[in-house]
Amino acid sequence: MTNRPSDKTDNEPFFYELNSYDIQRKPQTLVYDNSIVRVPLDPVLKSLRCPICLDFLTNTMATIQCIHRFCNDCISRWLQSDNKQCPSCRKQLKSKRYLRADHLTDSIVDMVKKQQIKLKELENQYQNQMDNNTGSDEN
Ligand SMILES: [Zn+2]
Ligand SMILES: [Zn+2]
Repeated sequence: MTNRPSDKTDNEPFFYELNSYDIQRKPQTLVYDNSIVRVPLDPVLKSLRCPICLDFLTNTMATIQCIHRFCNDCISRWLQSDNKQCPSCRKQLKSKRYLRADHLTDSIVDMVKKQQIKLKELENQYQNQMDNNTGSDEN
């Protein structure tokens, strides 16, 4: 996603390289009717999680050498406790000067959080609809 070459013109086709997830995943079957299908979001969500607190990234900081991302709070605490390596890959990480704020990731996290709330609402609506349609008294 971040490696898009900038010297490409709009007319040139852009090829995405398959990552290991793409290679091993099962293709989604086409849906022709109005049924709702769950698509795994895990790989995307995983990349938006902080490896230290395992929660969504908050005030994201990225290492300038290896571009690993952490919450500002998490990586600050990590550096304060005299760890001078990137928590993800153990590359040298001397100080906060080797980190940059990553506002783009912050806005993606924001978007995903909002999307998840919406998704939950849709799920509830769908569930209610199903309950009404079938008249079932199951949960
Ligand atoms: Zn964190
Ligand atoms: Zn790293």
